[in-house]
Amino acid sequence: MADEPRYVEHAFDGDVHILRIANAPVNTLRTEVRAGLLQGLQAAAKQGARAIVLIGTGRGFSAGAEMTEFGKPRKPPSLNEVFDAIENSRAPVVAAIHGNALGGGLELALACHARVAAPGAQLGLPEVKRGFVPGAGGTQRLPRLIGLEALRLIVSGDPVGPEEALKLGFIDAVLPGDLERAAVAWARQHAGDKFTLARHRTDKIAGYDAAAFDEAAKKLTARSRGQESPKGCVTAVRAAFTMPFDEGLNVEREQFQTLVAGEQSQALRHIFFGEREAVRIPDLPADAKPLPVNKLVVIGGGTMGGGIAMSAANFGLPVTIVETSEEALQKGLKRCEANWERTVKSGRLSQAEYEKRRANLTGTTDFDKAVGEADLVIEAVFENMEVKKEVFARLDKAARPGVVLASNTSTLSIDEIASATRRPELVIGMHFFSPANVMRLLENVKGAKTSPVAIATATEVGKRIGKLPVLVGNCDGFVGNRMTGKRGPQIEKLLLEGCLPQDIDRVMESYGMAMGPLATGDLAGLDIGAAVRKARGTVAPVADAVVAAGRLGQKTGKGYYDYDENRKRMPSKEVEQIILDLAEKMQVRRRKIEDQEILERVLLPMVNEGARILEEGIAYRPIDIDVIFINGFGWPAFRGGPMFFADRLGLKAVRDKLAHYAEATGDANLKPAALIEKLAAEGGSFATLKSAPKAA
Ligand code: NAD
Repeated sequence: MADEPRYVEHAFDGDVHILRIANAPVNTLRTEVRAGLLQGLQAAAKQGARAIVLIGTGRGFSAGAEMTEFGKPRKPPSLNEVFDAIENSRAPVVAAIHGNALGGGLELALACHARVAAPGAQLGLPEVKRGFVPGAGGTQRLPRLIGLEALRLIVSGDPVGPEEALKLGFIDAVLPGDLERAAVAWARQHAGDKFTLARHRTDKIAGYDAAAFDEAAKKLTARSRGQESPKGCVTAVRAAFTMPFDEGLNVEREQFQTLVAGEQSQALRHIFFGEREAVRIPDLPADAKPLPVNKLVVIGGGTMGGGIAMSAANFGLPVTIVETSEEALQKGLKRCEANWERTVKSGRLSQAEYEKRRANLTGTTDFDKAVGEADLVIEAVFENMEVKKEVFARLDKAARPGVVLASNTSTLSIDEIASATRRPELVIGMHFFSPANVMRLLENVKGAKTSPVAIATATEVGKRIGKLPVLVGNCDGFVGNRMTGKRGPQIEKLLLEGCLPQDIDRVMESYGMAMGPLATGDLAGLDIGAAVRKARGTVAPVADAVVAAGRLGQKTGKGYYDYDENRKRMPSKEVEQIILDLAEKMQVRRRKIEDQEILERVLLPMVNEGARILEEGIAYRPIDIDVIFINGFGWPAFRGGPMFFADRLGLKAVRDKLAHYAEATGDANLKPAALIEKLAAEGGSFATLKSAPKAA
């Protein structure tokens, strides 16, 4: 008979028992682990253990609950039954933590009599980021161990290292060296101590100050806009201070169950798993290995080139910026330095770390020499095809054979750029987003001839420098900009039919967007869109009139809004008049437009274009599109992205609404895409569409 996999190993060191969680890769607390722990604890009790060490095998202690078990009937034993066994154990149970102890993993440790950790461990309760609250006593035990500080940890969901955990008081020791050995020795030494379980501690929750609690809660939730889980965390943690332990557990359970079943949590989990899926490229041959990259060269040290170079330097990849003149080069390098210095000043970067990063960055005007030494080149010069082709022809001559040449273009064809070289198979788009040292999204753009090796290399380097690379096909605007571009005509119509810029932005921002579309236009500069329209021979009456009035956005102090000297935006009387005059001239009768209509008319054109992008195979999977919007376009993760939005609405409703708005607004672009028609007719959804109809 084949051996059943063992999810918990039971070992001994004299009379100290060791229970090792063995559920690779991250030791989630799946049913078999919970059952194994319970059995192990019972066996250890029977055998008269003097102390019990609970430890993880492999990469870490435990990353928490098995999220794929969510939404299904829970099989016993529950985590709480395991915790009861720990808390009832006569022998002290010591959690020995290395790597991650997150969520349910940390809750397991908090139920133990004591906790020790290895340097470099990460301890946290990130449930809030998945849209729910810790559901196995974390909100009740942590406050009893560390007081009000627990609110910060639970509402932010950010993990802390062992030094901070020790200072806060929820671990008992940091043990360097072999953790299991050290933990066994520690447990043996302390086996006779009197431990007070977290559930019985009262010292840290005594003297509850409602006003101080409210004040802290307000600060911590100020930035979470329409997100529900931070509020749920506050409710549950408050119960720790105001109720007996078991009643607090009930409050926590109620919050957990409501939130976990809610749409926001589903959206957040959709994105959590989606981000892991999107970086995997389905049809990449197994032998397509990334080329080694130890030296990056960035051509152009402007806004984007500087940001890309900073990302590389931040993650320890030596990088050289190539510029056309010494002056432009110094300007580019100075901008990077100033950026880092601001971070040092704000306390988020140490001087030593800054110097380390700065040492990874060099600059030159010697194009051929630098490019000749490059393992990968990323071009970020002006957005002009002639200039790009000239640069790529030069790159092809100067770079060693086999070196990948990437372009950061946001609109130009990768195929045409590649045609300027004799290595089109090694040319790829690496489309970063501004500010490139901050934004996580990287759209890697595959041209017609781009090889698997070039794709593997761009993906690997992207990950290495802290980005989330999503592979997309070559088309105008790629995925993100192509979809957002489709909002424009409906926004114009909304403005003429009855909205003002602030109405549209208010609706989109209360939906959760970091910034509404009109304010975003002001930030980027309204002249950019005007130039595109001019080149394409299209018009946008309102936008054109705003630009004609010299209102180019924040850089001119006015755009769709007026701006004060602190760049605070204010509704503009002038823009209102421009809109009213235009509506009158165009004989559009203005009416009150409901928020729901605004939301749908801004989002549905994007959904429709997303469907076309899938039909064309420009994106592999619907989830790729959602991940792009969450990581590059200020879309709140708790909304799950545009394709998730469509699924929640139901594709039949999406189809009907699109058809309605196409008819009502005379916008042919809103005619439902064939894929939406098909899925709506089948009763399908984007979620059921595992990959695009055609391969990208
Ligand atoms: P920018 O004008 O700030 O910088 C371009 C830099 O390239 C300048 O410093 C210029 O001196 C340098 N340059 C020009 N020709 C060169 C050459 N032959 N060799 C070396 N350096 C040269 O422009 P940017 O905003 O950084 O945009 C660069 C690219 O990134 C464009 O293709 C743009 O479409 C793309 N992009 C921009 C954004 C954005 O938000 N700005 C976002 C994504 C992608």
